This record gives sequence, structure tokens and C-alpha cells, in this order.
Amino acid sequence: MPTLSDIQDKLRRPLELELAQGCQNRAVSGGMERLLDTFARPFPKVREALRGYDGLEHAERQTALQAALVLLAPEGRPAPKVPTRTENRPALPPESDTTPLPPGTELAKVNFGPGAGRKFTSLGLHTLRDLLHNYPRRHEDRRALPSLAEVEDGQKVTVVGVIVSKNRRTPRPGMFILEATLENAWGEKIKCTWFNQAWVEKGLKEGLRLIVSGRAKRFGRTVQVAAEHMESVGQDSLSTGRIIGIYDAKEGISQDFVRKATQTALNRVPLGDYLTTRWRGLYGLTDLPDALWGMHFPSDEAHLARANHRLRFDEYLFLELRVLLQGEDAVLLGKRFGAADADMQGFEGGLPFRFTGAQRRVLYEIADDMRSERQMARLLQGDVGSGKTAVAACALYLAWRDSYQGALMAPTEILARQHYASLTGYLTPLGVRVGLLIGALTPKQKAEVQRQIAVGELDIVVGTQALIQENVQWHNLGLAVVDEEHRFGVMQRRKLLAGRPDVLVMSATPIPRSLALTSYGDLELSVIDELPPGRTPIQTKLIQDTARRQSYGFVMKQIREGRQAYVVTALIEESETLEVLAATQLAEDLKVLLPEARVGLLHGRMAAAEKDDVMDQFRRRDFDVLVSTTVIEVGVDVPNATVMVIENAERFGLSQLHQLRGRVGRGSAQSYCILVAGEHSQKTRKRLKIIEDSTDGFVIAEADLKLRGHGELRGTRQSGLDELRLGDLASDLEIIEAARELAKHILKHDPTLSHPGLAYLKAELQARSSQIAYREVI
Ligand code: ADP
Ligand code: MG
Repeated sequence: MPTLSDIQDKLRRPLELELAQGCQNRAVSGGMERLLDTFARPFPKVREALRGYDGLEHAERQTALQAALVLLAPEGRPAPKVPTRTENRPALPPESDTTPLPPGTELAKVNFGPGAGRKFTSLGLHTLRDLLHNYPRRHEDRRALPSLAEVEDGQKVTVVGVIVSKNRRTPRPGMFILEATLENAWGEKIKCTWFNQAWVEKGLKEGLRLIVSGRAKRFGRTVQVAAEHMESVGQDSLSTGRIIGIYDAKEGISQDFVRKATQTALNRVPLGDYLTTRWRGLYGLTDLPDALWGMHFPSDEAHLARANHRLRFDEYLFLELRVLLQGEDAVLLGKRFGAADADMQGFEGGLPFRFTGAQRRVLYEIADDMRSERQMARLLQGDVGSGKTAVAACALYLAWRDSYQGALMAPTEILARQHYASLTGYLTPLGVRVGLLIGALTPKQKAEVQRQIAVGELDIVVGTQALIQENVQWHNLGLAVVDEEHRFGVMQRRKLLAGRPDVLVMSATPIPRSLALTSYGDLELSVIDELPPGRTPIQTKLIQDTARRQSYGFVMKQIREGRQAYVVTALIEESETLEVLAATQLAEDLKVLLPEARVGLLHGRMAAAEKDDVMDQFRRRDFDVLVSTTVIEVGVDVPNATVMVIENAERFGLSQLHQLRGRVGRGSAQSYCILVAGEHSQKTRKRLKIIEDSTDGFVIAEADLKLRGHGELRGTRQSGLDELRLGDLASDLEIIEAARELAKHILKHDPTLSHPGLAYLKAELQARSSQIAYREVI
């Protein structure tokens, strides 16, 4: 039979643990209710103290736990003293004024000591809020080691001890070494050294207790520490004896200054929380004060971890709120179409092929949106050639079946003409009248097309941005397809949205889901992740530039077989002029290297019409090799081009290489891509190998994101991503999805965030938005 005191123990232990772990309701397996049911029957007062624990705020939980532990304290022993959050906070420096300050208070209005204003300005911090969210760049563990037994050579350590002796040496002129020997509580001796820091000497008095951090060196049983940071114990210790944050440094601003200022802000700003207890509980988030303290002054790893989790969640939450608000049109009413299955089958029946499973799946997603009265705002992603245009054509057909007009907007005239050709092929046989509106038309032709659009004599119109200019009046636009390739901004899309047609955005740039959710969060996502059958995958070969001649031999062989080739020149980020020069030079070189081939040139300095001309000539086979900078359009279709050589491939991002490679393999013949590496490091090889081994754009995009981080990914809309300071898109998909869910939930119930309970959340959203100079938020 267990005694009462056994049961008391069984109950007390998990409660102590729970308190030590920050009252997250995690220490108690099976939940608090169950624990109480099992063990607390003999202790009604304890049950009372912990009643409704799950639903309590952090501070309330803490109080309740402490009360319960007092009740459960073993006879004759006081309740265990478990460090509470408040006690973990660094000591408050003596401050004359302790009146609370709102987060928006300008730093200039608070006394941070002489010269503070200039320092804050140079750090880009203006308000107390800025200071609170100026997170450390990294953290360093400066908790004192209990004993030296475990210290490894080269490890960063923090030691505490009393100075027992000191010594100064000048082993050679210009070199000055200070040594102090500390003795710790276990009687172990540690030698601390300072190089060329004479000013330290006056702080080293025998008998003084010091705490020193630095890199350790082991000499048999003794340990020497090359001191990097030192404080005398007893001093209020923001900078040592704990896990400390290391902030972005600037000349003349000490870490200590930032830490003290941050501590003042934490103490003076009544933090509260913009997330309710319920939401925090739902997503396992700690409260805001705990998170901010934990980010700046964590009491242990667990504290830092939950702080990081919470603040990362917040970053995504505000990002998602913003993108969702940006796409606010999406929650408004759009067009409602019949979009009958029979019509889809009718369209498919007219095709020379069957839809792939992926095409069918996204088509149903699109049709669902079209049937609903909500305005469709959907991003259709899929590699080049995955059959997006065919899907879009079907959607346009569905709109037409309901007597609505449709638009397909392309970023360039070449692509517009190409789409026009495809749509005519798909839709004209079904009786749909398809038109083309581009800048190259004569004014008279343009006027005629515009008239036909206005009176409804054209059903589907393909065009460039000319489609959204003021003088285009639609008769009844129902569906707009935007072939984006990241060129249209939100504003331009909105113009098209003005008549509230449903909108489908197509993109041939596979991007990882995490990036899509943040960068294109205002759009729902459909992905075609399967190529139509019967495609011969492009063969890719990575070579070193020593084998360059040989590969051009291969190119020549293809040309002799009647094929054509692209040669892409090195990307030169700094200067378009240099890039044009490089391309021109390469074209000259190739004329010598491939005397039988006809060589053409395409670059970014050419006018749009000139580029179109060159592409048309290439398509007509007026020449065999097209030397080009990266301007060759995504989606440009020259089926006879079967080889692509990419010079200095290491200068391109993986996703970009994949995009470029997509220019070949457009016909039925086997196609090739040759990556010439101008640099031979292991790292480069490893990176380029990914392209050599995979033709799956999503796999490549994920790898690119992991390797380079989102900051360097090109072809993504940057808005908002710059502000991710903790977030890492390569690993945060789960948090992003959770944050997005909450953002959607909030906006669904209060699209303008006008409920008084959301005032704090709204203010925080506005503060974060103004920081990145984002203008479009509520
Ligand atoms: P994307 O717009 O994604 O680049 P397209 O819709 O232009 O792709 O399709 C590329 C090529 O593949 C076109 O020639 C198209 O006719 C063809 N195609 C599309 N879907 C299929 C399919 N399910 N089966 C066979 N061929 C297809
Ligand atoms: Mg296409």
C-alpha cells in the first residue's frame, strides 16, 4: 500500500517539473486533469488550487502551481524554490523612473544615457518596440561551468572563480600578456590570459570573484582560457553567467549598451499579448512577454527555444495577415460559373491527348473556384511543358460556355503570340472567337480589337499589358489568366481584377511550398507536378571548362543533324553593359570555333521589337546558334533547338539554371544541356550536380532554397520576406502553415481587424508593415 506521502511525492514531482519548464502544460503527461484525478483525491485543496489549469494564462498557472506546491511540501521542509520567470530576469538596474511606457514611445524620449540617441539612430532603432524586436543575431552560452573535468580543447567556456594570483609578461616588445589564476568552488585552478589589453589590469585584484568567458586550451589537467569577456561577480550580469544574446554590432556601440537598453525596454513596456490565450494554446505558443524575455535574456535553452518558436510564428503570422489583406479582393464576390463536368469532358474530347492526372486534379480545383461565388485567386504552378496552358484554355472555355469573356495576359509580345497560337488551336474549333492585342498592332488594328472587346465580338483575348490599359473596356470579362513569370506586380493584377473576374495566375517557376505560401500567400495554390507522358527527359552534363572545345564539337554535330542550339553567357550581376559585352564576345568566339554554323545574338540592351525579330529568325532557322544573355523568355518555344550550353554555370542559381534548361526539350527529339563550370570547387560541383541529376523543378527549388536561403532566391516577390529575421523558409513549412491557418481564421471573422479585442494585433501589424515601408495594409 502506498503511503499518503508516496502519493504526495507522485503528485509533487510532475508539478515541480511543470513549473521549472515554464508552465507549458507539457510536463504532465496525459494532462493536468488526469494527474489530479489520479493522485490528488486525498488533497482537495491542491485540486482546488489547480482547477481549470489548462485554460489559465501563464502567470495564473505559475501562481496556481506555486500554491499547490506549498500545500504539497513535505513535512518540515519549505516548498522547493523553483526559479520563476520573474526571478530569471536580470536584476533591474537602478532606475529613477519606472512609469510604464507604450511600445510606440520614441527612444529619444527615454533616458538611456549620453550618446544613446546617436547609437540608436545608427542601429536603425526608433521606438521601444523596435528595441524589443531587435533580436540577437545569435546566442552564446556563458553559463559558468561547474567543473573543468569536461572542458575540451578549443571549446568556448565560462568560468567563475576567485583571483588567487596575477602576473604580467612582455615576452617581446609590443606584446603584453596579463595572466590571472582563478580558483573555482571545487578548488580547481584556471589560468586566464589577456593579450595586449593593459587596461584590464586594474580590474584584476586578488581576492576578487570573476566570471570569464573565452576559448579554452587544455594542458594536461590544467585549463587556460583566452579571455574574451570578463566581469566581476556581483555586478548585475547581463553579459555573462547566462545564455546571452549577441546583437548586430556597429562601430562604437557595445553589446552591453544594447543589452541594457533592451532590458530597460522590457521592464518599462507593459507587454501584454496580441494573441489570445486560446490561440496560444491551440498552436502551442508561449506568451509574448515570456518570448521577448526569452529571446533577449533566456534563462535556459528551453526558454530560448520556446521564445524562438513564438516569435518565428509571429513573423509568419503578420506576413500572412499582410498578404491575405493584400489579396483582400479574393474574399469578395467574383463570378459564378456553371463549370459543368460535361463541359470539361467536351473540351478534353477535342484534344489530341488526354489530360494527365495532375492536370485533371488542378482543373477540378479551378472549376470548384469558378463555381463558387467567391472570386478565384489561384496560382497555377508547373514546370515548363507540364500543360498549364492547356488547363488555362479549358478554364477559359468554361467561362465562354457561360457567355463570359476571357483574357490571357502574357509578359511579352513573343509569349503573347505563342499563347495566341495555342489558344486558337484549342478553342477556334469549338467556335470560340480568339483575338490578339499587342503593342505591335497598328493604331487602327488596335482600335478595331478594342471595339470588338467592348461589344463582345471577341470571346477570348490574348495580349500583353495592353490588355489592362484604360482604353480597354470589356463587355463582360469573367476570367483573367495571367502568365506571370513574376513580372506583374500586385497592383497590375489588381487593375485586371477591377471588374472582379476570376483570376488564374500561371507560373512556370516551381517554388517550394513555404515560399509560395509567404510570397504568394494572397493566392491559393495548384500544382501540376507531372509531365505529360512520352517526353524524353533532357540529358544534362556538367563539364569543366577544359572540356569546353569538346562540347562545342558535340554542338556542331547536332547542328549538322539539322538541330539548333542556345548558348547562354555568364551572368554578370553588376552590369548589363558588361553582360552585353560578354555575349557579343562569345558570339565572335563561336564564329571562329564553329565556322560552319550561323550564329545570332540576343541581349538585354535590344529593343523589344528587335528581340522579337531575332527570336522569329531563330524559330525560322535563319541561323543555328543563338548566343544570349539570360533574356531568353521562359516559355519561348523553338522545338528544333535541342542543345543548350550554359557558360559559367556556377554563377546562376539552381532554379534559374532549371528555367534556362527548359528552353530545350520542346520537341520530340532528345535534347541536351551542357553546364560549363568556370570554377572547380567541391561546393560548386555539388551544387551543379543537383541540376545534372534532377529534372524535377520542385526538387531543384527546394535544394536551392536550402543552399542559398530565401534572401538570395531570385524571381520571387520580395515584399515581406525581408523582414523574416528568425524565420527560415527552408525548414519552417509547418509553422508557416499554422500561422497561415490562424491568419485566415482571424480575417474570416474580422476582415478589417476592427474588433476592439484585435486592436493590439492590428497595431502590431501596422508597426511591422510601416517598418518595411509597405503601404497597402488596411
Ligand atoms: P505549359 O504551359 O505548362 O508550358 P503547355 O500547356 O504549353 O505547357 O503544354 C506543353 C505541350 O504539351 C504542348 O504542346 C501541349 O499541347 C502538350 N500537352 C499538354 N498537356 C498534355 C497532355 N496531357 N498529354 C500530352 N501532351 C500534352
Ligand atoms: Mg506555356
